[in-house]
Amino acid sequence: MSDPVPLLQQMIRFRGVNPPGNEAACVRHVAAVMADAGAEVRLLGCDPERPNLVARVRGAGQAPPLLLHAHADVVPTDGQHWTHPPFDGEIIDGHVWGRGAIDMLGPLAMMISALVRLHSEGTAPAGDIVLAVSPDEEAGSRTGAGYLVREHPGLFEGIAYGVGEDGGAVLSCLPTRVHPIVVAEKRACWMRYTARGRGGHASRQGWSGTSTSKLARLLGRLEEGRLPKHVTPALDLMLDTLAAAAEEPLAARLRDLRDPDGKAEVPYDLLPEADAVYLDSVLRNTVNATIIRTPEKINMLPSEFSVDLDGRILPGAWTVEDFRTELRAMIGPEGELELLLEGDAMPAPQFGGFFDTIAAVMREADPEGLPVPMVTPASTDARLFAGLGIACYGWVPMLLPAGSRYQDAMHAADERVPVEAVRFGADRFHDLLLRYR
Ligand SMILES: [Zn+2]
Repeated sequence: MSDPVPLLQQMIRFRGVNPPGNEAACVRHVAAVMADAGAEVRLLGCDPERPNLVARVRGAGQAPPLLLHAHADVVPTDGQHWTHPPFDGEIIDGHVWGRGAIDMLGPLAMMISALVRLHSEGTAPAGDIVLAVSPDEEAGSRTGAGYLVREHPGLFEGIAYGVGEDGGAVLSCLPTRVHPIVVAEKRACWMRYTARGRGGHASRQGWSGTSTSKLARLLGRLEEGRLPKHVTPALDLMLDTLAAAAEEPLAARLRDLRDPDGKAEVPYDLLPEADAVYLDSVLRNTVNATIIRTPEKINMLPSEFSVDLDGRILPGAWTVEDFRTELRAMIGPEGELELLLEGDAMPAPQFGGFFDTIAAVMREADPEGLPVPMVTPASTDARLFAGLGIACYGWVPMLLPAGSRYQDAMHAADERVPVEAVRFGADRFHDLLLRYR
């Protein structure tokens, strides 16, 4: 009954695709499983067809309650070519295949399995365990975790720590197995850049100060520039941990990166490109041009254009104004910048205490592996629970070969997870719940 594998297969078959958001069947199924395991269950939502589950397993009252949070929605598979059907939840070649196997029905199955097993063993955890299962994470979380923290903050009172998904933190550059523990997430800072310039008939060439020349300058600076490097405490600890496990010359280059005033940059020459891009993105605030708008007239030089910029801000005390100042230094004074969206701020990460407990669980289960504190450039529901003062960690315990890039299957075709990895993860959540004090 506590085997997470059939549970994962069943959850994949519910097809909780978002949009439109067909999570209800999955959420209700989990509610029934948790009720059977002795939990108090509540289904809550602003839309009855898209409930959140908050299940509370009573503990011995010797520790504050602990949050486990997960999302039940999955992204669509339209236009993707799958080797095996994405919603059959079949086991083939030792893997559970299907949309959500990694993101994040697999990790949810691990959490549920650990709670069911504790119940069947008659063991009460030190504190209450609150399992929150939400819809809508893949489309903004408004009806999901956003609703829970807005309308029902009392259900999370007294919780100091939470565990959720790892946001796809990636690293495959070490000879050792890396176990990511995400300690902080970056947040969105979306802006619109607008500039005006000389318009006119497109049959003439050579005018100065046209808007297209300004557009070219902007894109050139965004493409070639980088916002300044910032070695936050989380990054420093991460680089230190990685450097200690890396071989030379990579180790030295990673150590060089830790110097906050140093000129050292990410060693693209020594790293797989995905690892280098990851490190580059968590060492600084970032910005990318994603949408370009001009009047659509082929024989007219546009007198105005706008470019939407996807900016991402480091966790900690960084503000939108800090980001704007850095961006201005890179792109110059031309044009206007308008803030479109500011993501929820994540506080600077906490180490020690609960982080050490998670790391100890991994070290005991895999003495050769390396638990690594990581920052993720993506954002998850952790940003919402963090707003309630809960220190959130992203953790998906799995035993995979060194260099495995399981996260590459997130949102992609042929998403799948090794059967043994799901069972290993369920055992680690069980360890964590027993160790939690
Ligand atoms: Zn996810």
